[in-house]
Amino acid sequence: MSFDVMAALTETSDALTDSYQVREPIYGWDANRHRVLIREHKTRLPGLITQVGQIVWPTTTNDGDFKPRSIPTSRTPGDGEATACYLDISIAVTRWHMMLTIVLRDDIESSIRQLLGRVAAEDRDTQLALLEDMRGWRHRCEIVTGAVASDPQLQAPCLVCGHRTLRVSRTKLTARCVNRECKARWAETEDPERGIGNIGQLADWIRRWREEREQASAA
Ligand SMILES: [Zn+2]
Repeated sequence: MSFDVMAALTETSDALTDSYQVREPIYGWDANRHRVLIREHKTRLPGLITQVGQIVWPTTTNDGDFKPRSIPTSRTPGDGEATACYLDISIAVTRWHMMLTIVLRDDIESSIRQLLGRVAAEDRDTQLALLEDMRGWRHRCEIVTGAVASDPQLQAPCLVCGHRTLRVSRTKLTARCVNRECKARWAETEDPERGIGNIGQLADWIRRWREEREQASAA
């Protein structure tokens, strides 16, 4: 059985460009202080690239119509990491279009879908090279948008806004919230002037939250 490169490419391209539904359980407490599931909150999220674009240009409206933006607004980008991610992917997508001698579409999402269609006619090495690139784009978008939650601690809600949008860097000992309405930041050295909180305080909060959750599930 050989590895199906085109299937893997399609899957990765979909994650980058297609909107998807997420279900977030909303919990409450019953009269006996047991945690109970109240309802599921369903939301539709745009593809990863659009999500990154929304972090970069926070004015992008989120009215359920996830039309990708073709021309960035002239505002100052709000987030360095997201901006770098968005630009790097745009450049890489452009380079792939040049290599395969195809014309770029108006937006990055259609351009990626177009690459997928075009690369089907190429040899396996080219397909594998594109897959490696696309997986890299996806991974990077996931980090920027906070979609990767391999570390259970990252599933804790943000201390400030309560959304599950924390990003923790263990190497730099910093954390930030990628919710664009919040953007709380923490570091080893707090700096209230710049709105940077103490990471120890965040760690305490996460620990308490996890303990409460464990108690609730054990009850
Ligand atoms: Zn937050």
